[in-house]
Amino acid sequence: MATAVLGEVERFRGLLATAGYAWTRPRGAVLHVLVAAPTPLKVEEVHDRVARWPGGRGINLSSVYRTVNLLHGLRLVRRVQLGDGPQRYELAEDFRGHHHHFVCEACGRIEDVHQCPLEGTDLGAGVRSHYLELFGICHACAGETEGHVGV
Ligand SMILES: [Zn+2]
Ligand SMILES: [Zn+2]
Ligand SMILES: [Zn+2]
Repeated sequence: MATAVLGEVERFRGLLATAGYAWTRPRGAVLHVLVAAPTPLKVEEVHDRVARWPGGRGINLSSVYRTVNLLHGLRLVRRVQLGDGPQRYELAEDFRGHHHHFVCEACGRIEDVHQCPLEGTDLGAGVRSHYLELFGICHACAGETEGHVGV
């Protein structure tokens, strides 16, 4: 995993440089965390993981907020709103691919859903993108532990 993460982080370093932004410790730490995270994270969760990362000690929450906002503004990171929950962030679709999220209302677990129900649907002129989040009970919570992977 480490090698793939480092390769992708290097790619972001290049994108930031192209956009005229220096490679600072908070930017590096936040990108390491977001590249490695399988599901969208709250800013507090990004901060927790940054603090556990060797290069991230001493980076405070407001610095993580600023960094996430900068990356969001540069469209490297997208904001994910799941129901009434807090805003979460993950790498933008250009990097993660188009997908949706399934949220288990019992345990709160979030899973990526790569099958798009709207793919191939004509939504009318001008529709360029869409958000669709799914809610329900995951298989583990439903007691279905045999033979199921994902949602
Ligand atoms: Zn996702
Ligand atoms: Zn569940
Ligand atoms: Zn879709």
